[in-house]
Amino acid sequence: MDNFLVVSSKRPLEDEGEEKDVKRVKPYNKNTDEEYDIGNDCHVSAQRHEGNVYIHIRYFDTSPTGRKYPSKKGIVLHLEKWKKLTEDCLDEIDKALEDSQKEDGNVSYKEHLGHNVHVTVEQGYKWVDIRKWWKPEDAENIVATRKGISLPVDLWKEFKKTIPVLRKRFQKELDDIRYCYLDHDNQMSMLKCPGCNPNDYMNHELI
Ligand SMILES: [Zn+2]
Repeated sequence: MDNFLVVSSKRPLEDEGEEKDVKRVKPYNKNTDEEYDIGNDCHVSAQRHEGNVYIHIRYFDTSPTGRKYPSKKGIVLHLEKWKKLTEDCLDEIDKALEDSQKEDGNVSYKEHLGHNVHVTVEQGYKWVDIRKWWKPEDAENIVATRKGISLPVDLWKEFKKTIPVLRKRFQKELDDIRYCYLDHDNQMSMLKCPGCNPNDYMNHELI
C-alpha cells in the first residue's frame, strides 16, 4: 500500500501528453500561477493581478548569492494580447520567421497587439520581437522602446510549447475575452479606442 501511494504521488505533471516537453519551474512569487524556463534563463510566467491574467516573457538574472530574479529585459502581455499573439498571429509569425531566413527574402512583418505593443519579424534577424512602441511628439512614425523582448528561433520554439499548457490553464478567462475591434461598428469608434489607436485616440474623444 505504501508503495502504491509513493508511486502515484510522484507521477510528474510533465508526463501528461503535450505537457511533457515544457520545462516547468518553481514560480518566482506567490502571484505567479505558472512559470516555465524556455531556455537561456528566459521565463514565461502567468500572474494574476486585480482579476486579470498577465503573461510575462522575461529574462532572469542571477544575484551574487545565486538567487534568480526577473530582469528588466522582457515584456508583460495582458491575456488579451497573449491570445491575439498565440491564436491570430502565430501562423503568420512562423511563416515570416521561415521566410526571413531565406537569402532572397524580403520579410517585414508587423502586427499590432494593442496599446502600442507590436510583434515584428524582420528580414535577416533571427528572432521574433515583441515590444512596446511609442510615438514621439511631432514624429511621423512610432519607434521601438526598450520595453520588449527578442526571442531567437530556438526560444521561440520553446515559447510555443507553453501555449497549449497556458491555454488549458486559462481556458475560462480566454473564452471570456472579446476583442474590442469586434465591437467597433464604425471607423470613429475604432479611432476613439486607446487599444486600437493608442497614439491618437485622445484627439477623437471629444468629437
Ligand atoms: Zn479597439
